[in-house]
Amino acid sequence: MFDTERPRNTLLARLPAADYQRLARDLEAVTLPDKHILSEPDERIDYAYFPVSGVVSIIMLMRNGGAAEAGIVGREGMIGLPLLVNDFVSPYRMIQQVPGVSLRIPAAALVEMLRSSPALRQLVERYALAVLQQSAQNAACHLLHGLDQRLCRWLLATQDRVGADTFYLTQEFLAQMLGVQRQTVNQSAGALQRAEVIAYRRGNVRVLNRHGLERLTCECYEQTRAVYERMLALP
Ligand SMILES: [Zn+2]
Repeated sequence: MFDTERPRNTLLARLPAADYQRLARDLEAVTLPDKHILSEPDERIDYAYFPVSGVVSIIMLMRNGGAAEAGIVGREGMIGLPLLVNDFVSPYRMIQQVPGVSLRIPAAALVEMLRSSPALRQLVERYALAVLQQSAQNAACHLLHGLDQRLCRWLLATQDRVGADTFYLTQEFLAQMLGVQRQTVNQSAGALQRAEVIAYRRGNVRVLNRHGLERLTCECYEQTRAVYERMLALP
């Protein structure tokens, strides 16, 4: 099924053909609805996922039940990075936020491929470094930049991964992404609507003016995008 056409996942698309053919034998396409949990903290990782559409959130859970988003993954990446160092335990909750399709592979099969394919290992290592940059930028952004700028940043990052002007993001998710109450998100999204940069209705986001979003966001969007581009460029 995957022999003739490469999936739209950046890591899979950049593998040498022979390595991809070997990996493809163990890949299985799964359709994931929003709120589907791909992994839970401290639980065993059964599968790694290579998204070809949709967006997955990396969520940090606190002991008191609090939760905050630490990053996002789309068709540029994969879920299951601990497998890179032969660790089978997830440190995070990974949850599907924008529904989509992923190609999944049993964890043991991916570990074996990471051992036998230097090209795959290098791609995944470089991707892991980009995720590390994303997390560091998020931490600084949360401390130093305003809510409106951060909202624009997440909308741009989500749009990049979805590859469309329209996508579904619940208020609950936006609030979690930004670490604020839903009502505060409403106010911020309302200001963007009045500026005719987005339309937002019942969770449906429509980007009307991407340049407007780019103008309103902080430098963090561009910084992170540039690191991803550099890390995922062909070596
Ligand atoms: Zn920022």
